[in-house]
Amino acid sequence: MTVSTTSIVRPRRVERRLGGRVFRSPTAVISLLWLVGLLVASLTSPIWLRYGPLEQDLTAVLQGPSLAHFLGTDELGRDLLSRLVTAAAPTILIALIVPIVAVAVTVPLTLWASRSLRSEGVMNRISEIVLSLPGTIIILAFIAAVGTNMPLVMAAFGLLLFGALYRVFFGQAKSLQKQLFVEAAAVDGVRPSTASIRHVLPNMSTTVIVQFVLLFGIGIGFQAALAFIGLGPQPPAPTWGGMIQAASRFIFQDPWMMVPTGAILALTIIAANSLADVLAGGTAMPPPLVALRRKKSKTPVTEIAAAAVADDLPAGVSVDNEVEEGFPMIGDASIPSSNIDATRNASPAPDVISIAGLGSDDEADVPPSSPAENEAAVAAATHGAKSELIVKDLVIGVDGGPALVTGVSLRVRPGSVMGLVGESGCGKSVTSYALLGLLSPGLSVRSGAIGWNGADLAHASEKELQRVRGHEIAFISQEPTRALDPMFTVVSQLSAAIKRLRGVSRSEAKRIAAQLLTDVGIVDTPRVLKSYPHQISGGMAQRVAIALALAGKPRLLIADEPTTALDVTIQAEILDLLRGLIAERGMSIILVTHDLGVVADLCDDVSVMYAGEIVETGSVRDVLMRPEHPYTMALLAADPHAITDLDGTTRLASIPGQVPLPGSWTSGCRFAPRCRFAKNECLVTVPLEPRSVGVGAVRCVRKDEVRGRQEEWRLPATTGGRR
Ligand code: SF4
Repeated sequence: MTVSTTSIVRPRRVERRLGGRVFRSPTAVISLLWLVGLLVASLTSPIWLRYGPLEQDLTAVLQGPSLAHFLGTDELGRDLLSRLVTAAAPTILIALIVPIVAVAVTVPLTLWASRSLRSEGVMNRISEIVLSLPGTIIILAFIAAVGTNMPLVMAAFGLLLFGALYRVFFGQAKSLQKQLFVEAAAVDGVRPSTASIRHVLPNMSTTVIVQFVLLFGIGIGFQAALAFIGLGPQPPAPTWGGMIQAASRFIFQDPWMMVPTGAILALTIIAANSLADVLAGGTAMPPPLVALRRKKSKTPVTEIAAAAVADDLPAGVSVDNEVEEGFPMIGDASIPSSNIDATRNASPAPDVISIAGLGSDDEADVPPSSPAENEAAVAAATHGAKSELIVKDLVIGVDGGPALVTGVSLRVRPGSVMGLVGESGCGKSVTSYALLGLLSPGLSVRSGAIGWNGADLAHASEKELQRVRGHEIAFISQEPTRALDPMFTVVSQLSAAIKRLRGVSRSEAKRIAAQLLTDVGIVDTPRVLKSYPHQISGGMAQRVAIALALAGKPRLLIADEPTTALDVTIQAEILDLLRGLIAERGMSIILVTHDLGVVADLCDDVSVMYAGEIVETGSVRDVLMRPEHPYTMALLAADPHAITDLDGTTRLASIPGQVPLPGSWTSGCRFAPRCRFAKNECLVTVPLEPRSVGVGAVRCVRKDEVRGRQEEWRLPATTGGRR
């Protein structure tokens, strides 16, 4: 029998955390004792109360506290204590209907809304409509229709709270959907609905519980208010609101009567709110958010483009870095100085030096291929060998905005390692997300094909992609601790993935989980299995993330900067591990990195990306030993590992300016504004052409002239600047 993965893992940690917080707080303990004590006292009142709630003694009306009546009597001589205690249970139980209905309706709809822009749009409109409804009038009309049936009235009130509650839940659910561990689940092939229940809901459980308790307090107050104005249970049935209303009528004859009736209502609402405060306790926040991830489609397209580019940036680096003063100018004297305008541009890439005649693609964005070209790309991509990835002429863009990646073609042979390199913001990560259909909302593949085992993943349905994710292609992110769900132990996460991907029993999944941890070099397997992600080191977490990626025995692993967040010694261990996996399992790997040392160490082939396009590709030996594109040369000259002594001066190259944002690419060679070899002939659109040496391609019209001039990148700029 197959057991749902959602039944395997439960938010035990949340339960323990909330329980611990409640029992450590005297306020929470007192609040809880008050609420529970009141309920128990009320339910057992027939056993221990001296008077019945309807029992009248007309000889003792409006009396203060006495030994016969501890809290006094009302206008008909009825015992106030008996009436207050008797009314407590119905009040508390009926008040619970409000949060139960509100949460039961809002949570599923919020989870659904947070999964896609379309559902978000629908639910936002519905919540706005509900928020705009005149709640008081609707409730009064409802009471007029159904009478003072309090459970029904409270249920209607709970429904009306949907709009406000949705706003509270949606923000957190949306943030959680952007968390790497939720994305990792999607990469793993988990269906969005399952990922929402398994990973999003447990992480927002604190907020849900806090709101539940707050709504409970609101329900008690609302019920008392209805009874006060005579729309609650009718006399002589005791209700707190009705008793306050009676006390207000006799406020001058017997002011005391207001004290116990008002106090019990106030204390109960205060107890609920205090409990909610303690439960909130500052930890209702989700784990740190991924900055600048997934903007809504309503977000300006420039922001979506910036966010997409920011996917390529290391943590802590933003796309609008301050540009330093006196930025170097192009050093090639062959460019007429009249053609160089070093005036800082106010565009998003202000330090880019523009050459006269270099237009921008801003207005005339890269058009998608024609249907015939697209068909040809699909045909070429889907006729590869088994487990061979062929990307053909891939164009990715912001919907209604600029292209982010244009004409990308890659071929990853089975059992080989392809390095995808370039500076931050070149489009490496966007390309790698597209391979698994994991582009952020607002981004889409415009044309081209991603061929894998006869299918075109660029145009595959979500169902088809789920069959591939985790099973055939897996993904490792650069921040393993954020890719693992903080709510669950390692064994929970691993065994759930193994069960789903391999269809094995729970005990077998646990055994495989332990074996996988051993395979990725973890020695203390039992301890790590029982640990939560925050209890293990970054290197250990990356090993766990790799084990998770191996759960479905994938044939291709996409590793997005897998060593960036790790220190040098751990980096070496992870590279060793990847090397071992390639040898033992015959997997192919796409290694997204900006570290040419890692490329040289691990890769067979390499593709260099700049400003959303491939500028050079070929075998690692050819590209790194005999680079033909000035950008590749500049990256190599800027590599601190490859530094050599030149003319007695050890100099590390720097590339002036920064990668231009999508939409601000020049219409000629996109690297021209930063290229020291740029000339007027570079103003044309530059196609990829076969390399002069070896197999591969290069995108440079001057490749034959600049070949072998790599060391010039280490020379100071001949004009302007400070290089
Ligand atoms: S075409 Fe080649 S030489 Fe010209 S600007 Fe581009 S990279 Fe530099």
